[in-house]
Amino acid sequence: MTRTLFLSPPSFEGFDGGAGSRYQAKREITSYWYPTWLAQPAALVPNARLLDCPPHSVGIETCLREAQPYDHVIVHTSTPSLRNDCRVAEALKQRNPSVTIGFVGAHAAVLPAETLKASPAIDWVGRKEFDFTCQEVAAGRPLAEVDGLSFRREGKIVHNRERELIQDMDALPWVVDVYKRDLEVEKYFIGYLLHPYLSLYTGRGCPAQCTFCLWPQTIGGHKYRVRSPQNVAGELAHAKKLFPQVKEFFFDDDTFTANLPRAREIARQLKPLGLTWSCNSRANVNYDTLKLMKECGLRLLLVGYESGSEDILKRVKKGVTLDEMRVFTQACQELGIVIHGTFVLGLPVETRETIEQTIRFAQELDVFSIQVSLAAPYPGTELYEMARQNGWFAKQDKTDILLGDGLQQSTLEYPGLSKEEIFEAVEQFYRRYYLRPKPVLRIIKTMLEDKEVCVRRLREGYEFFRTLAQRRDEVAHGSAGA
Ligand code: SF4
Repeated sequence: MTRTLFLSPPSFEGFDGGAGSRYQAKREITSYWYPTWLAQPAALVPNARLLDCPPHSVGIETCLREAQPYDHVIVHTSTPSLRNDCRVAEALKQRNPSVTIGFVGAHAAVLPAETLKASPAIDWVGRKEFDFTCQEVAAGRPLAEVDGLSFRREGKIVHNRERELIQDMDALPWVVDVYKRDLEVEKYFIGYLLHPYLSLYTGRGCPAQCTFCLWPQTIGGHKYRVRSPQNVAGELAHAKKLFPQVKEFFFDDDTFTANLPRAREIARQLKPLGLTWSCNSRANVNYDTLKLMKECGLRLLLVGYESGSEDILKRVKKGVTLDEMRVFTQACQELGIVIHGTFVLGLPVETRETIEQTIRFAQELDVFSIQVSLAAPYPGTELYEMARQNGWFAKQDKTDILLGDGLQQSTLEYPGLSKEEIFEAVEQFYRRYYLRPKPVLRIIKTMLEDKEVCVRRLREGYEFFRTLAQRRDEVAHGSAGA
């Protein structure tokens, strides 16, 4: 048995790139998702440790020192952070030449050979779902005998046979004990969630086919594989005891509402616990289910609307129409369910008109808060292939998704719409959405209701406008997508 460290390496200041983040970048306001994808295998390995550097402000020197006693380090990497993660792996090897280093994550799952070639410091790469791959390597099994693993042998890259996706999700141990042992929950912030919050998965995979979406196309698959409602309620009851300070529990499943009877059953089982919870949802849940979930503690839904253009929604295979989104949103507003809506600019084939439609659609929906991201064509997604085939990549390096300071940049451009225009539209979108009386009054109301929220909103407001100024600076200096 090796001593194994599961590592989210240090990166840009404020980089939300850990093993739970859906698009890895520095956000407009401080934001950190839990490293659930690393916590899960960490829970399978006795005496392991999970070190999540960015939220805990662990710099490279401290990270190297903390990693010193371990003879096996598993790094969660991503497309935009790979280069940085390789540098960290090389520094680890320099300090401790006998350490074995494995890389896991969506990028490694899709491009195992390229990931191994990215640095001689990487000894193995986990493909697809890597929980049990990590467990077997940690238990000392020879690399050649571990399914779902790629490694180097005599200078050549060897791909072992595929590992089956996990079907019995209840076989996975709970992550909250790892959180308790290794993480400081107060360090994790998401602007629209109560603080402190805690997130975990109750299942993996999403039956929807959205062409831009990372996890289902790389690791999770399109079948929603789920834990039993009893198992989920058991972990939540345990988490409540471990973390009495946590104010909100977030189910980070790709689409928690993809299996409605099960979502209702979990809601029913959570009710006696008296918890406040929230989850990811598509904008197509019926009124009765929403009502039941609300009665059982649901506070907020994180909803991907993506675009206000029916044509774009069809092209990206969203599977929900604008009218369905309107009906769903109205139902939530009637029931008092808060919505954080997410929109993406730069999806195919964005034009100035579709950007305008999306901004107006967002204003019409008028959900509590929004997030505007740039389309991020990750390797392994259909969007990446479409962009490659149609010549939409603005740069030669298709994996160059971030600016030097960690902010997202626009990697795609379309005939008649440059990457710079797409980049600049994000700020216009935010301004035209938030600088209206209704959202301003909503925010002020939450500030007046709670002193802690007031302090937090002031900090977030400062960070938000600072980031917008930083974005303008990038535009002025021509580096936004350069
Ligand atoms: S519904 Fe959400 S999680 Fe599912 S594929 Fe689409 S974007 Fe991804």
